[in-house]
Amino acid sequence: MSRRIKEHSESALKSALARIKEILGPKGWADDPVDMAPYLKEQRGNYQSAAALVVYPNTTLEVSTVVSICAETGIGIVPQGGNTGLTGGSVGTAHGRDIILSTRRLNRIRAIDPVNDTIVVEAGVILQRVQQAAAEVDRLFPLSLGAEGTCQIGGNLSTNAGGTGVLRYGNARDLVLGLEVVLACGQIWDGLRSLRKDNTGYDLKHLFLGAEGTLGIITAAVLKLFPKPRQIDTALLAVPDPAAAIDLLPAARSAGNGALSAFELMPRQGLDFALRYIAGTIDPLPRPYDWYVLLELSSLTDGNNLRSRLEALLHNGFEKGLVLDAVIAGSITQSRQFWRLREGLVEGELYEGGSIRHDVSVPISRIPNFINQAVKAVQAKTLGIRPVAFGHIGDGNVHFNLIRPVDMDCDAFLAKQHELSDIVHDIAAALGGSFSAEHGIGLLKRDELGRRKPLVEIELMRRIKQALDPTGIMNPHKTLPEQIRRVK
Ligand SMILES: Cc1cc2nc3c(=O)[nH]c(=O)nc-3n(C[C@H](O)[C@H](O)[C@H](O)COP(=O)(O)OP(=O)(O)OC[C@H]3O[C@@H](n4cnc5c(N)ncnc54)[C@H](O)[C@@H]3O)c2cc1C
Repeated sequence: MSRRIKEHSESALKSALARIKEILGPKGWADDPVDMAPYLKEQRGNYQSAAALVVYPNTTLEVSTVVSICAETGIGIVPQGGNTGLTGGSVGTAHGRDIILSTRRLNRIRAIDPVNDTIVVEAGVILQRVQQAAAEVDRLFPLSLGAEGTCQIGGNLSTNAGGTGVLRYGNARDLVLGLEVVLACGQIWDGLRSLRKDNTGYDLKHLFLGAEGTLGIITAAVLKLFPKPRQIDTALLAVPDPAAAIDLLPAARSAGNGALSAFELMPRQGLDFALRYIAGTIDPLPRPYDWYVLLELSSLTDGNNLRSRLEALLHNGFEKGLVLDAVIAGSITQSRQFWRLREGLVEGELYEGGSIRHDVSVPISRIPNFINQAVKAVQAKTLGIRPVAFGHIGDGNVHFNLIRPVDMDCDAFLAKQHELSDIVHDIAAALGGSFSAEHGIGLLKRDELGRRKPLVEIELMRRIKQALDPTGIMNPHKTLPEQIRRVK
């Protein structure tokens, strides 16, 4: 009996895939292992990924047709944008019976309205292109992150991406006015409203923002635009420790008078990785310091004393012992060099090999406490471990990455992942923090969600999943925990 069901479902799968191929035409799919390979590859190589087919629909209607066929047959669908996600959410699972639906051909900018300050884009538009389109009409789209040349808007919205502009403009969720979504039954929900006020019941778009493709496929969005800053001043500061950086933050907010647009912490160890491995990086200060802050003020008008306010901030910081040394970028090129260090730090860590990464958030005032406790705790467990605590500390977000001791083999170090991550996540939790600030859950943190999220919240998530995707075809096995084991 079970064999018959299996044969039946195999043949149903084959005929459904054949129908999908016919509808999309030869440009709309790949089943050859070589062509499929880039879509199956996970950023960090952590998961074995396979798929029955990769599809690239060209229109929302085609997405809807594909989803309808999958819903009839029970075929799982993994939505994929730029595939830069860091939690394994955008690739297939080992059994290979799901399809990957890439949004790369949904890449049109449908409209731009500088008066309404909105842009309507399809899900597959690359983030950098949205920024450029906004700049062409003298506006700003403020979402900005290291992967912006590759990641797509659909992926950004589905992960509720953070990045460097959160301090001033909020997360991706805060930049959306409307969505178009293909629901798990194949129906198209046209919620592409360009309204800043619309209190007409539940705000449904928020269900899909940050849902990691588990509730439906975002096919287009109305995004908010902002006035383009006329003046940007960037400074790299050496500070004694993370506590000094946090003490400086309120003054930086006041000095900026609403213009503080970035406040990033970097440790020397991270700078060393960038300087060692990333071409074109330069150490901007004459001697090394233990900690740095990359700070940016931006203003909508020229000549409003932004530079003198920044200089006054640094001067006061020196007097209070919060700043040890500082350099203000004298040109856009120099400002880019500072940012290159910040971005190169992440890439440099990869070349160093053997890293265990964390993306935690705690209330901003508790960041120094978190870093102190976490550094001590992991060093007590592994002699010679190299912690690199950096990130968007103006948002309370610390990327707390652990690099293997120089004399330890990568595999031996990575075998300690669970033990070390438990320590880090326990400390963040005790300080009222989160184990995933901006990268989401995917496969990587699914079990952690089952261990740490309050049961009532998991139950609410499951009810929403059941209501919107009753057959469970949307990004199966991702995000929602399959088993719940609580933290002891
Ligand atoms: C160098 C580097 C720097 C990074 N910096 C940051 C950072 O500062 N802040 C940050 O938040 N992240 C960062 N990331 C992580 C990553 O870039 C973001 O999560 C990004 O938003 C993912 O977009 P993507 O198009 O690549 O999505 P993918 O990786 O393709 O997908 C991510 C998730 O969204 C789902 N999905 C994708 N498209 C859709 C859609 N149209 N509808 C429904 N579901 C969909 C996928 O199924 C998956 O679960 C960084 C990554 C790298 C490699």
